[in-house]
Amino acid sequence: MGRENLPQISIPPYILRIKPYVPGKPIEEVKRELGLKKVIKLASNENPLGPSPKAIQAIKEYAAQVNLYPDGGGWRLRKVLSEKLGLERENIILGNGSDEIVSLITRVFLREGEEVIIGDPSFLMYSIDAQLSGGKVISVSLKDFRLDLKKMKEAITSKTRLIFIDNPNNPTGTIVKEDEVRDFLDKLPPHILVIFDEAYYEYVDDPGYPQTLDFVKEERNVIILRTFSKIYGLAGLRVGYGIAKKEIIAVLNRARSPFNVNSLAQVAALASLEDEDQVKRSRKLIEEEKEFLYSRLRKLGLSFIPTQANFILIKIGKGAGKIEQALLRRGIIVRGMAGYDLSEYIRVTIGTRKQNEEFLGSLQKILSSAG
Ligand SMILES: *Cc1c(COP(=O)(O)O)cnc(C)c1O
Repeated sequence: MGRENLPQISIPPYILRIKPYVPGKPIEEVKRELGLKKVIKLASNENPLGPSPKAIQAIKEYAAQVNLYPDGGGWRLRKVLSEKLGLERENIILGNGSDEIVSLITRVFLREGEEVIIGDPSFLMYSIDAQLSGGKVISVSLKDFRLDLKKMKEAITSKTRLIFIDNPNNPTGTIVKEDEVRDFLDKLPPHILVIFDEAYYEYVDDPGYPQTLDFVKEERNVIILRTFSKIYGLAGLRVGYGIAKKEIIAVLNRARSPFNVNSLAQVAALASLEDEDQVKRSRKLIEEEKEFLYSRLRKLGLSFIPTQANFILIKIGKGAGKIEQALLRRGIIVRGMAGYDLSEYIRVTIGTRKQNEEFLGSLQKILSSAG
């Protein structure tokens, strides 16, 4: 890497070693690069139904006030969220997406040489943020595509500081359950903070899904992360939140930049919370379309991992990377899994019926011409 072009300031090797996060390609980029008119993005688990009309209205109404700085403390949004969750405002921190809270956590709680335990594969940002703090990432392989909490607990040492439990786990869509999580938390040493990333919380329908809010109410060393990016359809606005006991939130607040969540994001999030129909509609769509995709994938002879989120991990086989590219040329963006060490798989966001049919139709054509 062009080290000689950098200013003469020492950059630690652990930062130079970081592989940047590669997000799903934006629609405009694919149109531009491939000269396509119509592109469907099924790569970043966005909500195909869009945001709540109430959120759009709130943004319009607030637009003329963007000359003013946002409420840096997010007073109203934190108040409404805390009431909804049966907690207090001091139990909540807002972030520029829940991504930002992951980075606040590693900056505040992790020093060089200390360890972070994550699932392998799991959401890539945990590892990137841990490395930025000079942390050592301890990856624990999944078992049957689920986080292996037993092995993760066995990986704890005196240097462990953070354990990330991505639930549902991205990219597999699987969950760990209440009893497993209780066992995991039992007798955990006090120098450890457990983060439950629940970005897909609202989509889960398994009754065994853990009630992690109880862990916060029990004053345990846990942080729950949730977001407006997924079911609420506000990914472009960047707003998520962390839930924890007051002492943890207070210390995270020291690292937060004063206006981290913009005012349009705040009003849109508030309006979204008032639109339960939007959430119900979105959940219903995923429930139905999940079954539709399952049955069509079975007919195509493809295996997949049953999901609790709005995406499906599909096994394509050796040529998965080529198939991802062939789909792209047909204007369908899915997520290749080479970066997650699952090179025979693709991860596909569940879309509308029309989008899913286009994806399946293209996939079928590509597979039959390849075979
Ligand atoms: C999408 C996603 C997030 C990021 O959400 P933002 O709030 O948009 O930053 C966090 N964790 C997981 C597992 C995700 O898939």
